[in-house]
Amino acid sequence: MQVVQYSSDTLRGALISGDPGLQDLYERFSPEERKLLNEAFNPHSALFRPVTVCSPSDWIPSHPEPAETFQDFYGKCERRVPSPHRRTIYVQTIGQFGDSDRHTQEYIGWLTGYCQAFFHGLPVQVQGPISISQTGCRFRVNDSTHNLQIHAGDLLRYLKTIKPPDAFCIVGATMVDLYPRDSWNFVFGTASLTEGVGVFSFARYDEEFYRSGYKGRLKGKRPAKGDYSVFNGYYTPPITSALLLRSCKTLTHEIGHMFGLLHCQWLQCVMQGSNHLEESDRRPLDLCPICLRKLQSAIGFTIAERYKALLRWMEDDGRESDLEARGKREIVKPLESFQAHRDWSRTCLDFLL
Ligand SMILES: [Zn+2]
Ligand SMILES: [Zn+2]
Repeated sequence: MQVVQYSSDTLRGALISGDPGLQDLYERFSPEERKLLNEAFNPHSALFRPVTVCSPSDWIPSHPEPAETFQDFYGKCERRVPSPHRRTIYVQTIGQFGDSDRHTQEYIGWLTGYCQAFFHGLPVQVQGPISISQTGCRFRVNDSTHNLQIHAGDLLRYLKTIKPPDAFCIVGATMVDLYPRDSWNFVFGTASLTEGVGVFSFARYDEEFYRSGYKGRLKGKRPAKGDYSVFNGYYTPPITSALLLRSCKTLTHEIGHMFGLLHCQWLQCVMQGSNHLEESDRRPLDLCPICLRKLQSAIGFTIAERYKALLRWMEDDGRESDLEARGKREIVKPLESFQAHRDWSRTCLDFLL
């Protein structure tokens, strides 16, 4: 295991910058906010720890990228800032989640609620669910894993056609596995950052995916080309707390890229790149101070209000909802996997109050 350790001075520079204008901008944060953000360069911080590389297949050794400072981010033309007329984040589900339409609706409600807290201040909206056949995408059965896969590029093209004019971005999510081209085995997702469109699959976040008894394997006859009936009743992963945690991480990471944030190498952070599920599980749910300052500069939220919104989401499993809603509700938001992040967010908030 290797620790990617930057000096306090380097981290301070990456966060605050040596540019007088950006230093002035930093001074506009309240003393409490600066106290929290300055934890980035406290070598003994309990909140923000250096990145660890556990294997040569981890992201950093296999994808050498520049480490992006706040100043690099703020000055680059790829930085995208929501405008008054284009500030809504749209989430679009493709195909079923869980084993009923009710599950799909609940699950997507949790995801959008989480995104709304994470990108605090921006509206997040769900568009009505669409079926896989509605997208007209190509699909196939993977030759080695024998599960159904849909063509990621086709979905991306479809999403571009339905992107509303007031969208900052539109992000598609599906429980079916994706492939980018015939010669590739699979892909977790694909995006066009400049156009603010992306699509991601949570199929491989299922604990069962790589096990021999995986129920998503098609046995027997192959579906005919264009026969979407094969998706009717097709296996979708059970909705567990771990799946919800992984989905929240993926969505916020990918939407983070839509603002122009590059992968984070400074500290443990949800914007770290990840090459495999174990590495993705290792990264935390939230942002390091350097990425938090980047996102704050684009959205303009108050940092404490954002943590409060995240805590509200992590503390509300739906049981306390009003009577009418509770009567209809049979599914409780599975929050067990969020316990450590909840404690962490409370500690962050303590710095700010
Ligand atoms: Zn990424
Ligand atoms: Zn970061």
